[in-house]
Parts: sequence; structure tokens; C-alpha cells
Amino acid sequence: MRAFQLVGWQQPPELREVPVPEPGPGQVLVKVGGAGACHSDLHLMEAPGPPPGFATEPPFTLGHENAGWVESPGPGVTGFAPGDPVIVYGPWGCGTCANCREGKENYCQTTRGQGGGLGGGHDGGMAEYLLVPAARFLIPLGTLDPRQAAPLSDAGLTSYHAVKRSVHLLGAGSTAVVIGVGGLGQMAVQMVRALSAATTVIAVDTDADKLETARRMGADEVVLPGEDAVTRIKDMTGQQGAQLVLDMVGADPTLRLAAQVARVLGHLTIVGLGGGALPVNFSSPAHECSVASPYWGSLPELMEVITLARQQKIEMLVERFPLESASEAYQLLHDGKIRGRAVITPHP
Ligand SMILES: [Zn+2]
Ligand SMILES: [Zn+2]
Repeated sequence: MRAFQLVGWQQPPELREVPVPEPGPGQVLVKVGGAGACHSDLHLMEAPGPPPGFATEPPFTLGHENAGWVESPGPGVTGFAPGDPVIVYGPWGCGTCANCREGKENYCQTTRGQGGGLGGGHDGGMAEYLLVPAARFLIPLGTLDPRQAAPLSDAGLTSYHAVKRSVHLLGAGSTAVVIGVGGLGQMAVQMVRALSAATTVIAVDTDADKLETARRMGADEVVLPGEDAVTRIKDMTGQQGAQLVLDMVGADPTLRLAAQVARVLGHLTIVGLGGGALPVNFSSPAHECSVASPYWGSLPELMEVITLARQQKIEMLVERFPLESASEAYQLLHDGKIRGRAVITPHP
């Protein structure tokens, strides 16, 4: 089969011919419907060597945001039949440590909690077939199309988890600011909408088109970053700032803005891997404002995200690319030219 692989650090990925994996006991072979192209893959491609804690050496297949159809369940697997549409929970933990038993395999205590295509020693989904190491990582999609649903497993789940952990702050009259409304940020806007109808959502982005999309997806206000962004957001919040500020970029300028608009007792949540640093001292961010950097989300939360999608309460803008155009998709992502999520579809 064909697989889009990282073949060496700081080398462009290549489409290579590799054997179709055989599912062993408890494993499931999935025919890939969609594999989302994520910004974190770009960081991986540019990395001079394995990032901290990264256990996989190239070559390995990229793609950690996957959905498809069950191709063949391995020996002992029950509950799944060939042809079933499924989404793949991405952070593959051990399944038995305390965090994994709560479904928080993203915080597995015995491995890095990283799945296929992201350094857990497994190949990802940018290939015709994906070997999933345990059936518990599969969630039935029902009527959802895997080619459309794939981004829910990362862009959807990551943004859902980032909002849900702060939902107790999002009461009447509250405000959430989403900085950066590309694929991930557009989902975050919708997740605030889905989890708290009472919250005012402010979207911030340099790209007017993306702001327009954010507005269509539920943002109440849109703001271009720059000189008066802080003043405008303060004016919208009675000079208090926002209860929740989600930085979906994580670069120095966005973190600076985030620190200026998060209120006392608020949450400043860094989701983007932009590599910036947030200075913290007694007066900034605001007093008792908590800063967190959540990673992905839990298995039960992915089930909630799938439910929201089935209820049509969230939608994902998807641009499909055949497997042979994966490089092109990443280039467009790199250049900021993907409006939602680029999804590689090996079986269009
Ligand atoms: Zn990702
Ligand atoms: Zn574990």
C-alpha cells in the first residue's frame, strides 16, 4: 500500500510503498477514509530531531487524526465488523494506568500517550490502511462520513477538551476569547457555543476571511489583532477581560494579547504549538488567572464530540486531497491557505 512517511528529520515526507499491516490479537485494521493534516505535523517536519519524549525514529507514516471503515478485526476482537464506519481515538495509552482507566489516555502515565503518526512507535493514518492496536480506540461513527469526520478526533477533541475544562467559568454574562480561528479555532468557537449558550464569543485573527467563517460558526464579535485589540476586548467585557482565553496559536504576540485580556480568576489556555513564551509575574497575567496547556482529550470526550456532530451542533470545514497530494496539502496549510481542515482521503 502507499503511505505518506516522514523519512528523516528535516527532510520532506515521501509517498512510499509499504506492506499492508496484519492485525494481531485485539488489533483492528482500518481502511482509512480520512486523515487530517495538522499543524503539529508541520512542527514535526521542521524539527531537527525527535521532540522531547518522542519515541519514534523515521521512517514512520504521518497522520494522527483518522477515521475510516473497519477492514479486518484481529483475533478476539468483538463488537466491530468489516465495513463499520469508525473514528480513531488518537492518543494511544496503556489502558491500565490510573489516567487511562478514566479514559484519559492522553495523559497515560506509562507511555507518552501519543498515537499513530505522533511518536508512540506506531504508523499513522496517511496510508491506505491503519493498524489500530486496540479496539477500545475505535468509536462508531453511525451516519457520519469518515472523510468528513476525521478532524473531530484531533481538531474537534482538542478544542472540546480545552473548553470543557473551563466550562464552570462560562456562566451568564461570561466571555470567551479565541485567538486564531483556523481549523482548530473554528472548532473552539463552536465548542464554546455548544457547551455554553450564555457566553459571548470573541474571535481574533489576522485573516478577515477566517473571522467571517468564525462569525458564521457562532462568534459574536470579531477582532483583528493589533494596537486596539486589547482596548476593544476590554470594552466588550466591562474592562474586566474574559473568563476564558484560548490561544490556538501560542506564539509570542498571541500569548501577549492573551495575558492582557484574561481576567482575574480566569483561565488562559495555550492550545497552539507556536513555541512562544508567556512571561509570568505577580501582576501578569491577572491575579489568580490559571494558565494551562491541555494536550488532546479523553476517550469519553471524543464520544461527546461525535454526539455533537451527529446532532449537527458542530461542523467542520473540510478540503479533501488524494493521498498523492499530501505534500501539496501541507504546503497550503503551511501558507495559511486552508480554510478549515485539509483531509487526506486515500479511498475517495
Ligand atoms: Zn494534531
Ligand atoms: Zn496508561
